[in-house]
Order: sequence, then C-alpha cells, then structure tokens
Amino acid sequence: MAVADPQQTHYLKTGEEYVKSLQDDREVYYKGERVEDVTTHVATGGGIREIAAVYDDQFDSQAQNVLTYVRDDGARVTSSYLIPRTRDDLRFRREGIKHVARSTWGTHGRGIDMIATLPLGMLGELPSFKRECPEFAENIHWYLKHAEENNIHLGETIVDPQGFRSRAAGTAPETAPPERATARIVKEDATGIWISGVKGVGTCVPQANELILGSFHPPLDEESFWVYVPVDSPGLRMFCREIVHRPGTSAYDHPLTSRGEEIESIVAFDNLFVPRERIMAKGTRSLHGVNFYNVWARLEHWYTFVRIVAKAEMYVGLAQLIMDTLELGEIPVVRQRVADIIEYCQILQALQLAAEDLAELSEGELMIPDVNVVTAGRSYALDNLPRILHILQDICGQGMILRWSEKDLETPAAFGKNLGWFLDTRNMSARDKNLVMNLVWDVAASEHATRSKLFEESNALNVPFLKERLYGEYDRSKFLEECRHFIGLGPAPERTFTPHILAPSLSSVTNTKGDDPFANGSKTRG
Ligand SMILES: Cc1cc2nc3c(=O)[nH]c(=O)nc-3n(C[C@H](O)[C@H](O)[C@H](O)COP(=O)(O)OP(=O)(O)OC[C@H]3O[C@@H](n4cnc5c(N)ncnc54)[C@H](O)[C@@H]3O)c2cc1C
Repeated sequence: MAVADPQQTHYLKTGEEYVKSLQDDREVYYKGERVEDVTTHVATGGGIREIAAVYDDQFDSQAQNVLTYVRDDGARVTSSYLIPRTRDDLRFRREGIKHVARSTWGTHGRGIDMIATLPLGMLGELPSFKRECPEFAENIHWYLKHAEENNIHLGETIVDPQGFRSRAAGTAPETAPPERATARIVKEDATGIWISGVKGVGTCVPQANELILGSFHPPLDEESFWVYVPVDSPGLRMFCREIVHRPGTSAYDHPLTSRGEEIESIVAFDNLFVPRERIMAKGTRSLHGVNFYNVWARLEHWYTFVRIVAKAEMYVGLAQLIMDTLELGEIPVVRQRVADIIEYCQILQALQLAAEDLAELSEGELMIPDVNVVTAGRSYALDNLPRILHILQDICGQGMILRWSEKDLETPAAFGKNLGWFLDTRNMSARDKNLVMNLVWDVAASEHATRSKLFEESNALNVPFLKERLYGEYDRSKFLEECRHFIGLGPAPERTFTPHILAPSLSSVTNTKGDDPFANGSKTRG
C-alpha cells in the first residue's frame, strides 16, 4: 500500500486504530455466551478485519482520493460524512461507495460510509426537523462534526423484533408499557433521556462504533426519538445470529467466506442513557412514519442502489472469468446468458447516471439523487437478482459443485495421471480453475451468499414495497393528461405524488391518528 502524506493534519483512523476503538466494554453475546473481545472472536473478528482494511485504504495514495477529502481548513477527513451540495459531489461519493463495496464483494451492506447517510439525510431535511422539533434539531450539526472527526463507523437499529405484533411500535397503542417490546423513553431529566426496550435487527452493530436508534411507526410520544449512541454504552446488549462465513478455512478453498462477515444482532436497551446533545428529535411523532423516513433517508436509498450497481459490475467480471476458464466463449447460447448479465449491469449503470443527473437540492440544500430513478433501479435490480445469480451458477455446469482441495488434485487418478490432469483446461490449471469455482460458490451459492441476497432483499424495502413506493411517488400526470386529451376527456382531478407507502397493518394507526403527516400527500414537505 502506497502511504499518503503522513504529515498532513487528518481525522482518520487506521485499521489498527479502528480495531482498538472496538476493544471497549460493549456487551455482545454469541450462542448464549458473552464475547470478551469482538475483534478476535470467531463470529465478529473476521468482519472487523475486513472493515479495518477499508480504514487502512484511507491512507493509500490512490484509494484516499475516493475515501477521503481535504476540508476547507486543510484537514483530510473521511468522505463518509461529506455533505453533497452538487452533482459532482454525488459522482465523487459514488466512486467511494463502490470502492467500499468492492472490498467485500458487496457483502457488507453496512460499509463504513453507509449509515453515515442518515445524519446527512437529517441535514437534508433540517427545516422539517427544526419546524417539528426545534429543541434538538441543531444537534444534527454537532453529530455530523463529531462523526466526521472521529471517523465513526455507524450501525442502525430501527425495525422491531418479529415477536408479538401487538408488542411492536405502530400497533396496538392500547398495550401499555412495559408489555410493549418497543424501545421507549422511561426517564428524563435536564441531562438527557433513558431508553428501555428491544430492536429486532442491527446489522454490523457489534462491529461498529455507534448506532442510530429510532422507529418507523411510534404511536406513542415516549416511543418517538432519533438518537445516536456509542455501542459500548452501559445497558446496551447485542445478541448475534449464527455465523454464515467459514472462519479458519483456507482462502484458496473459500476466497470470500473464509474472510469474515458483518453480523446481525438483536439489540436490547436496559435504561440506556442518552445525553441531550445526542438526541436529534424527541416526542415528535411527525418525524417518524415510513413515509417521512423515505424522504430523509433518500441518500441511504441511493447508497444501497450504488452498492448493487457495484455488485452487478462484479457479476459481469465473474461471468467473463467463468467463460474464459471453461472455454465457453465460442458457444452462442452461453454468450447470450452472459449478455443477460451485461444487460442487467448496463441498465443499472444507466439508471445510476440518470439518478445523479436528475438530482435536485432538498429543502436543507443537499443534492439528492432522483428518488424515482433510484426506486425503479433498486426494484429492477432485486427482481432480477435471483435470475442473475442463477445464470452465474448455471454457466459453471458441474464446476461449481465439483470442487477439490489441492491435495485431491495431486492424487493419482487413472493411467498414471493425477486428478488435476483431467481437470486442467487450455487456459487454466486445475488448481486455478478450482479457485475460480470456489469464488463462484462463495458469491452465488454459499450460506454467505444467501445472507447477502437476503440483506439486499429485506433490509431496506423489499420489491413489493419498492413498487408501492414508485406508484405513490412517480409523477405521471403529464402522460395521463395526454391520454385523456387524445380521447377528449377533460383534465384529470388534481393529485399529488408524494412519498406514500400504504402499510395495511399499520396505516389504521398512523393515518387516522394523523401521526404521519407525510402519508397520502395530506401534507407536502415544507
Ligand atoms: C439481513 C438483514 C439485515 C437487516 N438489517 C437491519 C438493520 O441494520 N437495522 C434495522 O433496523 N433493520 C434491519 N433489518 C430489518 C428489515 O428492515 C426488516 O426485515 C424488514 O423491514 C421487514 O420487516 P420484518 O423482518 O419485521 O418482517 P415482517 O414484518 O415480519 O414481515 C414478513 C413479510 O411480510 C411483509 N409485510 C409485513 N407487513 C406488511 C405490510 N403492512 N405491507 C406489505 N408487506 C408486509 C414483509 O415485507 C415481509 O415480506 C434487516 C433485515 C435483514 C433480513
């Protein structure tokens, strides 16, 4: 790694400093036992090393051009918290996001710069936060500076556990605490608030420095808050799911899954103290609701899309590697299957460019990529992802499953030849062919691959929700008018195209009580 100017003032952590920053009092459990040190534990250590490599890249003379930037005061800082004001800022960030995605084959949905989009998104809607909750809105500036200057890796816990629905936020407000499971404010004084309850999923939280805690559907004032807290705060506990990577196996046998993973955990809060400066909003139901979230989290929406585009580009590279390895390039039918992957990638790349070109300033003057293009892009990408993974598997034929250890390849098989002799191709030794197939297995068929696909599909609106969102937000009034005009119908009744997801089980709570003023276009932003 070529090391950039060590003399320059900076607010960057090296990989080692990031690892040290996690050796604190955090309370993490794996299979019922307390994890002493997340940086060395079998469940979390590998993923942490993968993230640390990205922290180190910030000092690489090439990579630092996309992962960092020089502030007006001359200090070099992470680009994670760069406030995008222009389309060029978005293009710059896009390359940083792709660099982070490529470092783990896109399997870390929470790259070091991902949840950074949430405090930025709050800034993008600062007028709403100021109007609805003036007491805390200015803390958004404080938090962004703090996070930037401490090179913070952030996690997110918003969605409730999948237990009794009547115990979750957004449903059955008549179920009084403490029978409700959802996180809520249990005490407050002039110094801050105390929160108790449980959140269902926090990807990467045991491997992060801090997390944002909030809710989509809080029907009660005491369940309405947006706060940022350090992961080692007393009273915060994380319970990790079973791992899907293969610690201890060789990088040859499992080029991707031997390395590590970002881990999901349930996150519990037992009288968690949050000081006032870490509260961005409190007791303000209008700053919750999935429709308002979909407004201020548009940068997160875009980030997720860019990561998928980076993966599509890698699928194209992998497909060609398979073609070269198995000498399939002359077979038209197989070429067409690879062309399907290229087409998928090109459509996504085109949408990525369109989202940047059509970007507009938000109320808080952040440049925000075109939301409908991003929604359509994510929906298209996820709808077609199973087909693309299937093509990758299919063009491997027997190769993806018939994989061998190096020792197997050296074992005598027939007429004096080792097994490897029968598996060599014109372009590749059996050993290298096997390595390629090992990668395809890890990327497209392993448990790790399944988790990664599940993450893309579920973590931030699945395909039906994305389509619902597109239906609600895409302004097609001009096309409607043209149709009506063609057959002599008068103008259509006026309608607004605002963030609008109807969540049937929740809408009766959020809409009738007026908790979500951003739903149904009943109140436009600003
Ligand atoms: C790998 C992974 C990582 C995740 N990481 C995070 C994270 O870091 N932070 C975080 O806060 N959350 C995270 N999530 C949670 C994710 O946002 C939720 O899984 C998702 O919102 C669906 O909620 P649920 O799992 O509770 O499903 P459920 O509510 O139990 O729903 C089950 C199914 O029914 C559908 N459904 C339910 N209600 C409705 C409705 N009203 N209208 C239409 N369809 C409906 C759902 O879409 C889903 O398909 C993660 C999830 C996964 C799988």
